[in-house]
Amino acid sequence: MKRIAVLGSTGSVGTQILQVAERHPERLQISALAAGRNLSLLIEQAKQFRPTRVSVARAADVERLQSALAGTGIRVLSGPEGLAELAAVDVDLVAGALVGSLGLEPVLAALRAGREVALANKEVLVMAGPLVLREARRSGGAILPLDSEHVAIHQALAGHPREALARVLLTASGGPFRTATAAEMARATPEQALAHPNWEMGPKITIDSATLMNKGLEAIEARWLFDLEPDRIGAVIHPESIIHSLVEFVDGSWLAQLGIPDMRIPIAYALGMPDRLPLPELKPLDLVEIGALHFEAPDAERFPAFRLALEANRIGGTAPAVLNAANEVAVQAFLDRRISFPGIPEAVEAVLASADFGPGVDLDEIREADRLGREAALRVIEDSACS
Ligand code: MG
Repeated sequence: MKRIAVLGSTGSVGTQILQVAERHPERLQISALAAGRNLSLLIEQAKQFRPTRVSVARAADVERLQSALAGTGIRVLSGPEGLAELAAVDVDLVAGALVGSLGLEPVLAALRAGREVALANKEVLVMAGPLVLREARRSGGAILPLDSEHVAIHQALAGHPREALARVLLTASGGPFRTATAAEMARATPEQALAHPNWEMGPKITIDSATLMNKGLEAIEARWLFDLEPDRIGAVIHPESIIHSLVEFVDGSWLAQLGIPDMRIPIAYALGMPDRLPLPELKPLDLVEIGALHFEAPDAERFPAFRLALEANRIGGTAPAVLNAANEVAVQAFLDRRISFPGIPEAVEAVLASADFGPGVDLDEIREADRLGREAALRVIEDSACS
C-alpha cells in the first residue's frame, strides 16, 4: 500500500489523482489532503478518503472544516505552516499539485523530511531547481515527474545509460491560438484563451499553454528533473497531443511515449511506479481513427513567451524565478481583463530586461527574486494601463 499526501487536492490534477486513487484502493491510500478555498469539495474528499490530516489556506475556514469533519478524527491544519506540516507527514509519496510559487515551500518541507515528491507544480523547479535538488540529495528524498511531457521522458529514458542520451524533445499542442493571427491574438479574451483544444487543466496552466510559456517552463523543469544542459532540450508543436514527448539517443534512435491526452495516464504512472495501474475506463488510443500526427516549429514571433523562458533558462540563477513571478502576475492580470493576451509576454519581457539576477542558490534569495519580479510586473502592468 502506498500512502499519499496530495497538495492541491481540489485542483485539476488533484481531483484526477483522487480519481486514480479511488480506482485502486488496494494500492493507493490517501493519507493527507491540502486545498485552498474550495471547502465543500475538500470536505467531500475528506469524508470519502479519510486522510489523517487536511489543510486549508485560511485559518478562518478551520472551524467550518472541523465541524463538518467532527467525529472522523481527521486533524485540520491551515495556512503555510499547515501546508508545510502536512507536506512532511510520514507518507510514501507527496503529490505536489499546487499552482504557482505557492508550492515551493511545502515541496521543500517534504524533501527535507526525506519524502519522494511527484511534482505537477512545475513552478517549484522553475523557481528553485538547484535548491530543490540539493534538499532532495541531502535528505534522501527524491523528485519525480508528474507533468505529462516529463513522465513521457522518464519512461523513454528508463533502462538507458546517461551517455546514450543525446537530447529530449518536448511536445506542445500549440494551444487555442496555434493558427491565430497576431491581430486575432491581440483581441483574444480570457474565455478564448481558456478553451484548450486537447487538455482539461486549471486556468493558470491553460493560459500558459496558450502563450507557450508552459513549454518554456517545462524546458526549465526538464533541465532539473533530468540534469540536462539547456541546449539539449527542444520543443515541437504537435497539435494532436498523442506523443507526449520524445528522447533522442546518440545512435540516432528516438523513443516516444504515446497515449490519449488524459492526465490520469501520467498520474497513474507516477503514483504506481514501478508498477502499471490499469485504467480500463479510458477511451483506448486508436491510431487509425487519428490517422496522422503533425509537427510544426514553435513560432517565436507570435509566441515570445517560449523564447523568454529559454533565455531565462540559459541565464540561470534567479532569472527563471523572476520570469515565473512576472508571468504569474501577468496571467492573473489577463484573466482580470487588465491587459491583453500579448500583454502577458510583453510584461514578462519588460521585467526580465530591467532585472538583476543573483546565483539563486538559497531560499531567501529566491523569495526576494520572486517578490521583486511580482512588484516589477505590477508596475509594468499599471504603466501600460495608464498609457
Ligand atoms: Mg505538461
